[in-house]
Amino acid sequence: MVGQLAFSPVYRFEPIRPFTGKSWYNPFQGDTLEWSRANFHIHTQNWGGLTAGRRSPQEVISVYDSLGYTWIGLSEYQRINPSSPILLYEHGWGIGKVHQLCFWAEKVVWWDYPFFQTLSAKQHIIALLRPTTRFLVLAHPRFLHGYTGQELSLLGGYDAVEVLNRYGDSVAEWDSALSSGHYASIIASDNAHDAYNPHQVMSRWTEVGVPSSASIKLLERALLGGRTVAYKNRTPFPLSGPYPRFRLIKIEGDTLLRVQLSHRVDTLRIIGQGGTVRAVAYDSDEITYSIRVYDTYLRIEAYTSEVEAYTGALVRSGPHRRDIPGIDRMATAIQSIALGILSLSALLGGWWLLRTRADR
Ligand SMILES: [Zn+2]
Repeated sequence: MVGQLAFSPVYRFEPIRPFTGKSWYNPFQGDTLEWSRANFHIHTQNWGGLTAGRRSPQEVISVYDSLGYTWIGLSEYQRINPSSPILLYEHGWGIGKVHQLCFWAEKVVWWDYPFFQTLSAKQHIIALLRPTTRFLVLAHPRFLHGYTGQELSLLGGYDAVEVLNRYGDSVAEWDSALSSGHYASIIASDNAHDAYNPHQVMSRWTEVGVPSSASIKLLERALLGGRTVAYKNRTPFPLSGPYPRFRLIKIEGDTLLRVQLSHRVDTLRIIGQGGTVRAVAYDSDEITYSIRVYDTYLRIEAYTSEVEAYTGALVRSGPHRRDIPGIDRMATAIQSIALGILSLSALLGGWWLLRTRADR
């Protein structure tokens, strides 16, 4: 445990800087919105049954195909499954469930801190993954608290947060990331391990704001640009009927936000800095909101008895993401020396103990 820390650099994390600026970035701007359904987090049978996946890629793909999904990603642990329509893998094999989804990765990174991860260790993993993947998602933050909200507000170099996941939803953590001025796109996933179990399928999904016929390049651009809506199914089975979709999310003159849905919903909410509720509408298919000078980011939530929907964020200026922070060389050197002394004294202590026992 001490030894593994010796390999992690110590980073100099910057103070948070909420989104500012006169103009607004709206990933949904435009007069028509088209949606295609996605799940990028599914496990199939792999590693000789060692990891928890129960079905073959063909079985999984046909289940999601029949439910009308356009984008399907088989996210095996530490392996890019060549049968996956969207190529990606889930990084992380430690006990703490600090996992990342690496889309279109050039290679699998095996380095991990398996027992305990300091904030700097978590940053180091992101730094190692960053050059190998085109879309880097921090998976299920609340699952065993792999990432806290505080950590998401300091880490840099990641593209998105898997806000909805069967193993734990992380809306507050995502708000921390957005409130700190880091543009994190939103995705939602089943994290299914058995696609034949109806409780595991279509429990959470992502709607991407591109038509089903879109190219992979367009999909990638939409994911990076935050043009997604995350859905949570409040019923125990896949939905068979229609559910509300966003028809219009428009900012007019940088001062007025207009939202229009395809169906009436019980509640519509506009959320802003710190996760605070800025406006609410009940039993309606639309909401308008006069943007305040102190608004930094805005996102929309919709609720019915069947689903919850969370749009990607609209932010001031642009979809800015914090870079990987600089390394604090002095602190890294001190940590290495301190850990060196600790290891050496443990070694010497052991040797002394063995000798005194042998002398008896
Ligand atoms: Zn995971």
